Amino acid sequence: DLSPVRRALISVSDKTGLTELGQALEARGVEILSTGGSARALREAGVTVKDVAEVTQFPEMMDGRVKTLHPMVHGGLLALRDNDDHVAAMKEHGIGPIDLLVVNLYPFEAALARGAGYDEMIENIDIGGPAMIRAAAKNHGFVTTIVDVEDYDALLGELDANDGATTYAFRQRQAQIAYARTGAYDAAVSTWMAESIGETAPRRRVVAGQLAQTLRYGENPHQDAAFYTDGSSRPGVATATQHQGKELSYNNINDTDAAFELVAEFAPEDGPAVAIIKHANPCGVARGETLIDAYQKAFDCDRTSAFGGIVALNQPLDGETARKIAEIFTEVVIAPGASDAAKEVFAAKKNLRLLTTDGLPDTRVGGQTIRQVAGGYLFQNKDNGFIGESDLKVVTKKSPTDAQLRDLLFAWKVAKHVKSNAIVYVKDGATVGVGAGQMSRLDSSTIAATKAARMAKELGLPETPAIGSAVASDAFFPFPDGLLEAAAAGATCVIQPGGSMRDDEVIAAADEAGLAMVFTGMRHFRH
Ligand code: 5GP
Repeated sequence: DLSPVRRALISVSDKTGLTELGQALEARGVEILSTGGSARALREAGVTVKDVAEVTQFPEMMDGRVKTLHPMVHGGLLALRDNDDHVAAMKEHGIGPIDLLVVNLYPFEAALARGAGYDEMIENIDIGGPAMIRAAAKNHGFVTTIVDVEDYDALLGELDANDGATTYAFRQRQAQIAYARTGAYDAAVSTWMAESIGETAPRRRVVAGQLAQTLRYGENPHQDAAFYTDGSSRPGVATATQHQGKELSYNNINDTDAAFELVAEFAPEDGPAVAIIKHANPCGVARGETLIDAYQKAFDCDRTSAFGGIVALNQPLDGETARKIAEIFTEVVIAPGASDAAKEVFAAKKNLRLLTTDGLPDTRVGGQTIRQVAGGYLFQNKDNGFIGESDLKVVTKKSPTDAQLRDLLFAWKVAKHVKSNAIVYVKDGATVGVGAGQMSRLDSSTIAATKAARMAKELGLPETPAIGSAVASDAFFPFPDGLLEAAAAGATCVIQPGGSMRDDEVIAAADEAGLAMVFTGMRHFRH
């Protein structure tokens, strides 16, 4: 299963390590064919190279759009060396076999990242490169394909270990990597085009990702994991700058994302807001006069759970707030900026990871979410649904006051980011009880109320902060029980989608309990 490497074709956009590779191959007696820029770089380093144009007897043309698309190249890559017909065809047409292909593609993703215009993006779509990669990888029975600069050393090691040949296992492994590359490449092109033309239909979208980080492990230590980015420049965990602390873990990335997406619901011009997240659910969210005030209020919602949490801020972190956050063990802090004073405070906390971004993500903007199930992927448009005051329908005899309305809308924004069934109690711009991820809405309601009561005890409050609170439910109350539980806990107003078969019963129960209730007409399941 050894396949000798006597003739190689090198065509690379990223010239990193190119001359070293060329020299090493030449030293091993390999004949090198190459395209314009790659050939030039190799010659400058003293490597003997044959131009592909000489092999094809065609000049590179059309600004490089047509360089290697020729039977002299593709025949040499695709011919089965042990097939008489193929060998005869090579002989008849003077096609020489190509045993090794080294290609990396036009830097489409890099052009995307720097925000290149439409025409420039189009010119960055590589045609001949993927064609050769796919051809060589298909013929991995005989041909070695290298698409990643990081694999140059492995290639040379393989050649040295096998007297100038490669093993089938190596070629097969590299072929798999090659198809991963062309697949991701076209996916990136399609995703970019979808954004350009506003194509949002999930059935016309493709999953594109670039490996950003190999993670130490996944959700648990026995699971391998990696982080892929989709090339978006949107502020968020994928594009944030990490200033200090250990590498982000799988769970950190997931939770930091949840935290930042949640806090971004609160526009900075409406004042400071802070979200503290544990296991992708908020254990406290609050607005405040100042950032430190918002943090304190968020922290007071559930001090026990906040330990080891992820903190997201909607405004740049200041030194005073940093000092407060650093009082307890915190995994990650993410904010749209941080002052020097804040960075100094955190510098002493080696394990705390500080991430900053250029602004907040726009939560109203579209996008896709993907989830894997056994045997497939579920693809959907992002939940960018938004409810404003004018969308609300008052369904009870009592109407909410202005202060209640503010808390209701606050609670609704938070509920969108809580795993279903979500019940969120809010008072004076701060969560006071969050019930998340329960299989029954009633249980979520009970848990949120219990937590509020427990915090009241811990903080030495005379009564549970749930009294006089606004409560949000991410989906309709199917029965009055969950709503009555909230009323019993002290809630005085309710926000929920409505739409249950028993809405009448639920509304009657709300009236009976003296609650003001509004319907949003939109639900925010998050499973
Ligand atoms: P060079 O810098 O050597 O002139 O060009 C190298 C790049 O050209 C590589 O990224 C390779 O994938 C790409 N390439 C090779 N052949 C063709 C072709 O026929 N058409 C296009 N569009 N790109 C090609």
